[in-house]
Amino acid sequence: MQGCLFCGIAEGTVPAEIVWSDDEFVAFRDIDPQAPVHVLVIPRHHAPDLAALSATDAAQAGRLLAAVAAVAHGEGLDGGGYRTVLNTGVDGGQTVSHVHAHVLGGRQMMWPPG
Ligand code: 5GP
Ligand code: ZN
Repeated sequence: MQGCLFCGIAEGTVPAEIVWSDDEFVAFRDIDPQAPVHVLVIPRHHAPDLAALSATDAAQAGRLLAAVAAVAHGEGLDGGGYRTVLNTGVDGGQTVSHVHAHVLGGRQMMWPPG
């Protein structure tokens, strides 16, 4: 989508440190990491948030979680575990309107989040 930051990363017009990709998804390091490993996983095709993606392509929402697991494996997080976060909307803390899963690991995560 024109003007979307994460579409730009998926298309390669915006630089990012890409750690994993396939035909459908791209994973790259968060610019402001909140853990030793902090990767964002996005579908290449634009959807604004999880609610929209689930409504239009629930199967792709499921495959997004499989991509998260593949990224976590690639980042060496299978043993220690990791946290997966999908923020939706203002109260959810979403700041970029292209659906993305945060993969956080490499330290003990606290609960509840702030
Ligand atoms: P949200 O708050 O929408 O759940 O998460 C958006 C995430 O995108 C934030 O963690 C933020 O640090 C990250 N981010 C924002 N702009 C950029 C960017 O230009 N490049 C990268 N790699 N991450 C970004
Ligand atoms: Zn987009």
